[in-house]
Amino acid sequence: MVEDFFSAEKKPQKLVWASVFVMGWAFVETIKYYSLLIKNMNQKRVALINSLKDERSKKVIFLSHCLLNENTRYLGGAFRKGVVSEVLEDIQKRGIGIVQMECPEQKAWGGVLKSYIWIPLYLKSPLLLKIFLPFFIWNTKRIYKRIAKGVIEEIRDYEKSGFHVVGIVGVSASPTCGVTKSVNISSFIKFMEKANPREINRKKLNKEYIMGSLVNNRGLFIEELKKMLEKKKINVRFYEYDLVKEIEGKKMGIRL
Ligand code: SF4
Repeated sequence: MVEDFFSAEKKPQKLVWASVFVMGWAFVETIKYYSLLIKNMNQKRVALINSLKDERSKKVIFLSHCLLNENTRYLGGAFRKGVVSEVLEDIQKRGIGIVQMECPEQKAWGGVLKSYIWIPLYLKSPLLLKIFLPFFIWNTKRIYKRIAKGVIEEIRDYEKSGFHVVGIVGVSASPTCGVTKSVNISSFIKFMEKANPREINRKKLNKEYIMGSLVNNRGLFIEELKKMLEKKKINVRFYEYDLVKEIEGKKMGIRL
């Protein structure tokens, strides 16, 4: 039998099996060691969190950028100097931390003044506009996707770390951040194309275009965010700040 095992013919085969066995054993032991190490580290992390327990509520809410900084609103669309204080008060009373999302339009439409959306007001060329509009929409969606991805990563970070994400607050009547109501961006560009630059004013813009063209749709950014959340099976509530009420001079919180 012993002779058979060490027979010159079977020796290489046996050596292969022996090495496979040793490698398998080493692999299992390494996995066991690292799982134990991770478990140990997690226990230490929980102990550290408990011993450093502080005043934080472990609750956060994601806000559309302009609710904390109306300087990013479309020209003629800011009715507060900076912060929408009634929204802030609601959140502060409940001890919730605020995560300010980027302003998607600022990033996609040429900066704080959103210069790209005013191009059709001066460029009265239907042919150039036909080329401009599809590119503008394509580029807008591309940038909104990137921003939405960043928001999702941040939400996941909070949730994985044991925090509660109370919700995401959008802005109604925005073609970008509307949750239940928005305006159509293509029709806005067409409105600009027809408008006379010398006749356009703040009242006309808000009354005729924003309040007169509301549709029961999500804005492009919120749409993207919702799609991504669903795909990743993350459940977060959406709230909506009412921009129309703000235009009408009324004060409205967000009823959390
Ligand atoms: S509603 Fe959204 S896109 Fe519009 S200004 Fe506010 S944050 Fe920017």
